[in-house]
Amino acid sequence: MGKGSAITPQDVAEALRFRADSVLSGIDPDGTGLASGDRERAVSTTAGLVAELSEAQERLYAEGVGGGHRSLLLLLQGMDTSGKDGTVRRVVGAMNPAGVAITSFKKPTAEELQHDFLWRIENALPRPGDVTVFNRSHYEDVLVVRVHDLVPESEWSTRYDRINEFERRTVDAGTHVVKVMLHISKEEQKQRLAERLADPTKYWKYNVGDLTERAFWDDYQAAYQDALARCSTDAAPWYVVPANHKWYRDWLVANLLVTAMRDLNPVFPPADFDVAEQRRLVAALD
Ligand code: AMP
Ligand code: MG
Repeated sequence: MGKGSAITPQDVAEALRFRADSVLSGIDPDGTGLASGDRERAVSTTAGLVAELSEAQERLYAEGVGGGHRSLLLLLQGMDTSGKDGTVRRVVGAMNPAGVAITSFKKPTAEELQHDFLWRIENALPRPGDVTVFNRSHYEDVLVVRVHDLVPESEWSTRYDRINEFERRTVDAGTHVVKVMLHISKEEQKQRLAERLADPTKYWKYNVGDLTERAFWDDYQAAYQDALARCSTDAAPWYVVPANHKWYRDWLVANLLVTAMRDLNPVFPPADFDVAEQRRLVAALD
């Protein structure tokens, strides 16, 4: 990249990709370097990227209607208040809701607990042509579950390989998988919790349980480190997005999704009828 030549979405994806030897604690949640700290320019670029995403999503959806089997899955993880909902609103919100599905994974229900941990995930995978967002995911089963010993280590420790295998199958079936960890600092979380308490219109976002989880911050970071390192595969890589600055976070996620859509490059399906004949019939209508 020479001076003046803008960084491409592909460059951004490359830079954010977490590798087996990457270290989460070495990534600055406050960083804005890939955008050269230029907020104004990033905000305007994001608008363009989001427009490109909407256009591409229509092609993906049309391809699905035409019998295609491809789809896009954005999987979001991050500590409480890391901005998962905000990212969905800002980056995915402009797409046609008809082709978008958003699933938030909460504490498993009694029914879900009777099944394997991947059961509810498999049921929520995108339909052909869809853009699906997972707000939390099967990674909770090696994060919160590990931090709180919800199952024995002998069980959760086998899940990394099972997750890789599951994701491999999902990708082979035509789903492009983009896994994003929104990386905030502990100080930023405190700030966001305080903001919620300072504004009655934000009380609904405040969860007293978040304070309990915050006490396990270091354990969560260690669990994230292992999940990211062990499950960032060629088929389904992990991307760590510095997320203290919302404008930077949105710009990065938009870049990641545009990279995915350009890779997919969905195509409008050809007509499954005789276009010339239908044109004649329509022209002859009263
Ligand atoms: P929120 O995303 O704020 O609505 O919170 C959802 C809560 O559900 C979080 O505290 C998650 O850790 C929790 N959760 C999600 N998946 C699981 C899981 N598989 N096991 C236990 N807790 C989970
Ligand atoms: Mg929460």
